[in-house]
Amino acid sequence: MTDHAQAPNATEPNATDKVTHFGFETVPEADKARRVRSVFDAVAKRYDIMNDLMSGGVHRLWKTAMIDWLNPAPGSHLLDVAGGTGDIAFRFQDRAGPKSRVTVLDINAEMILVGRDRALDQGRFGLDWVVGDAEKLPLRDRSVDYVTIAFGIRNVTHIAEALKDMRRVLKPGGRFLCLEFSKVVVPGLDKIYEEYSFRLIPQIGRMVAGNADAYRYLVESIRRFPDQETFAGMLRDAGFEQVQVRNLTGGVAALHSGWRL
Ligand code: SAM
Repeated sequence: MTDHAQAPNATEPNATDKVTHFGFETVPEADKARRVRSVFDAVAKRYDIMNDLMSGGVHRLWKTAMIDWLNPAPGSHLLDVAGGTGDIAFRFQDRAGPKSRVTVLDINAEMILVGRDRALDQGRFGLDWVVGDAEKLPLRDRSVDYVTIAFGIRNVTHIAEALKDMRRVLKPGGRFLCLEFSKVVVPGLDKIYEEYSFRLIPQIGRMVAGNADAYRYLVESIRRFPDQETFAGMLRDAGFEQVQVRNLTGGVAALHSGWRL
């Protein structure tokens, strides 16, 4: 498997470029989406097994907690942004019933293909698989009941733009829920988590997915992501109301909820 995270054609920023971060690297803004796509191209086929290995299966509990809190109405329509291989979509469908509809959107066709195959293997229907960008959603204004994004927002180049666009497609009364890694709030756990993330995760990535750099990016991007309060402020700035936060596993991950009223 090619090590795309250190892509040979990676461009160094010029003095005039707008820059952003890609993990701990500074890259031209125009280059980030391509690099993120390369990371998930490289790991798509091993993505699900890596999630189980890295988290000891805990990511499943977090995703179930997300759908528990969402508590979707039967027959409702979800847009799952950065939906990858379908974990959130499948849980939503199981909860919202056979008349529900899910649009799974991801920038990466490889992830979408893995998700679509999983859905077929499980005999699932009623899912639309769309390749698209969280910053420019190909959906009409006020067209869905819920928008979710799990472990996707930190990969987006312009987070504020994406938040505004996710609010745009929500119907009035619709709800947004984001699951993302966050800031550990339990003293002592932060040190253990730090050691584990920087030492072990890239090694597991190398052994299982053949790509340590992709998983080093994952760890670095988690560190660069805003803490719970800062991200809650970004939701308010995007126009969401009644913003609430729930920590999961001592803040290793967090759920952010907001409404379009
Ligand atoms: N939501 C899935 C889950 O929880 O298992 C997948 C999460 S995976 C860590 C992050 C996903 O975000 C990848 O599938 C990636 O392709 C997608 N992604 C990254 N940037 C994106 C963007 N700008 N728009 C849409 N999807 C994006």
